[in-house]
Amino acid sequence: MTTSDFRTRGVSRFQNRDLGVPRFSCEVGVPLAEQASLGHNRWHPDVPPLHHLDPGDEVILEAPGYDDYQLRDRDEDQDIHDIDLSRTHPMAGPVYVNGAEPGDLLVVDVLDIQPLSGIGYSNVLPGMGGPLTDWFPKGFKTVWDLHGTSATSRQIPGVTIPALSHPGVIGVAPSMELLEEWNTREDPLIPSGKAVDRAAVTETSVLRTLEGDEWERVAATAARTMPPRENGGNLDIKNLSRGSRVFFPVYVPGALFSSGDYHFAEGDGEITWNAIEMDGVGWYKFSLIKGGMAKYGVRAPMLRPSPLDPNLGPRYLSFTGLSARGSRQEYLDATAAAIDAVEQAIDYLGKFGYSGEQAYTIISVAPCEMHVGGIVDIPNAAVTLKVPLDIFDKDIMPK
Ligand code: ZN
Repeated sequence: MTTSDFRTRGVSRFQNRDLGVPRFSCEVGVPLAEQASLGHNRWHPDVPPLHHLDPGDEVILEAPGYDDYQLRDRDEDQDIHDIDLSRTHPMAGPVYVNGAEPGDLLVVDVLDIQPLSGIGYSNVLPGMGGPLTDWFPKGFKTVWDLHGTSATSRQIPGVTIPALSHPGVIGVAPSMELLEEWNTREDPLIPSGKAVDRAAVTETSVLRTLEGDEWERVAATAARTMPPRENGGNLDIKNLSRGSRVFFPVYVPGALFSSGDYHFAEGDGEITWNAIEMDGVGWYKFSLIKGGMAKYGVRAPMLRPSPLDPNLGPRYLSFTGLSARGSRQEYLDATAAAIDAVEQAIDYLGKFGYSGEQAYTIISVAPCEMHVGGIVDIPNAAVTLKVPLDIFDKDIMPK
């Protein structure tokens, strides 16, 4: 296989093999709107199912990356300035699970997650680059070559990121009542930019096979995919990888499962707003726990995370973030403490030759772990950020 084949035909090890499992293929390089029968990019209970299956069955779902094939494997970065984020996240689905009813738990086994084209992207997007957007207003684009168990990038030499692939977006459809609840609680945040303006961008809604008046009706109330919610959605959980078992509350008949936004790897917090984003393949198996929501008191997805983890052993350097710094004081604010830890790690990696943009990206895509030390010792919260040492070609320990 030549390099050009690699980038246009995909490198999935499942490519063109009959695995005896229904498989819904994504055409590499083609935006979801031009292959709309594959899926959708908004949450709504009335998106027509892609596939019906029984408990015990499996399905393979391919999807474009979050960028919907707007990013290019080129060094120039005009694409990160031009990207239309209203096209995120293209998902494959929904899958209707026969017998699933509101109140059940849908059990989803993540059997495998693989790249499709073999090219990944991570960006600090101008104006949208996580909590440190003001630090890096010009943005920063990184292209990753995904080689099986690890990824490298010409924009960040000397760093090798181990694979811990997972679907960034994985979830079930909301009921109409739940959807209305989301809209009611999020709409007041829109004027201040704290929630995405769903009404301003309906024209890029892809709702599978819906057209005309039905499309208009559904697009008008459908939810954007940006936040995680009670249905799952954009969970961005780095250990929701191969071997995970996820328990989703079921809100509508059939559950209506969808996934996309595949990530090759990610650090806890996905701090730049990007993991190593890729087009990908997810292989899922389904079962049901009847009446499981009430039986176990579940109101948001629960999971048994993947038993797999990159073999990084105890070799981490851990930064301590606090919700206070200099004269600034936040009260038990774990987010402020996490950002403080990230800022310290960026400053530290700068001593080893990494630019701020490179360091910020590394923390967002490497398997860094954030742990809450304490949120009880008034007035300061403490959050640790563990950066794995072995992703670096050079030794970054203090001497
Ligand atoms: Zn993503």
